[in-house]
Amino acid sequence: MKKIGVLTSGGDAPGMNAAIRSVTRAAIFNELKVVGIQRGYQGLIEGDIQDMNRSSVGDIIHRGGTILRSARSKEFMTEKGFQKALDVLKIFGIDGLVVIGGDGSFRGAKKLSNSGFPTIGIPGTIDNDLGYTDFTIGFDTAVNTVVNAISNLRDTSSSHGRANIVEVMGRYCGDIALYAGLAGGAENIIIPEIDFNMDEICKKLISGRVRGKLHSIIIVAEGVGKPYDIAKEIQERTDIETRVTIMGHLQRGGTPTAQDRILASSLGAKSVELLLQGKKGRVVGIKDNKIVDQDIDEALLVEKNIDQEMYDLTKILSI
Ligand code: ATP
Repeated sequence: MKKIGVLTSGGDAPGMNAAIRSVTRAAIFNELKVVGIQRGYQGLIEGDIQDMNRSSVGDIIHRGGTILRSARSKEFMTEKGFQKALDVLKIFGIDGLVVIGGDGSFRGAKKLSNSGFPTIGIPGTIDNDLGYTDFTIGFDTAVNTVVNAISNLRDTSSSHGRANIVEVMGRYCGDIALYAGLAGGAENIIIPEIDFNMDEICKKLISGRVRGKLHSIIIVAEGVGKPYDIAKEIQERTDIETRVTIMGHLQRGGTPTAQDRILASSLGAKSVELLLQGKKGRVVGIKDNKIVDQDIDEALLVEKNIDQEMYDLTKILSI
């Protein structure tokens, strides 16, 4: 192993830059050459590749987004595109690759490693939807962004005596909604993993109003869908004015939290260590506060479950 490449793929996440920095610096520390591949697998196919040095990754640890940019590449999923990518890796003399991205990016990494090319995956996605790791890079920052938004909404919600529905990201995974809901003191959390009961939600809103409560925050994970329909039904059934806020891409940006930077720094260095040990087809993560690595095929099969205890706690604390 003399030269490694690093790329970011799929949806961007705050902390990806800290991971790129860690991979680059750990590689240079171990006397490896490093190249940065722009725009994920698409840039790889096109040979959009530059040499990286210590200063290429200077002053980026605190920046959201990714200096390598990110992309979704349909071409890489074709046999021709995939072969092109393998050719480019050979032409540029790259011996190992670190892919920072979500489950889709990991499937691409798996394909590369199955074809014999040493590839390691780092979980970079705000959704926290990978079962093998407790946390993905970007999740903590996204949760903090939502918690700040909830605080702002509480002020205006109280002034007008309104209910607020906040839609957060996380297609099939309710983790952002759950964590931000607990930290933000939301009254109701609606996530795709657990059926919700509209009667219960309305009953809670009405009894809150009777007690003199002025605000109510209902967090809805994107995967549940139809936040405006939910708002309409609540308003019709409770007579409480209900507004909708869609967090959208605001959750993807921003300066990464210390937790995300630490996770990214640890996982980046771990990936380089694995490549130096001759390992391939593995993904890195954090389990019970320990940095771990696992076979990529096995990792992709681990089911992602919601933390039921945490969900139950939110119900107790929002009575
Ligand atoms: P996020 O979770 O933020 O959406 P992701 O990594 O899951 O990130 P995807 O768009 O699913 O995002 O995947 C990123 C890229 O990985 C795709 O555009 C494609 O190039 C590649 N990829 C995805 N699935 C496969 C697959 N089965 N085989 C080969 N490559 C794949």
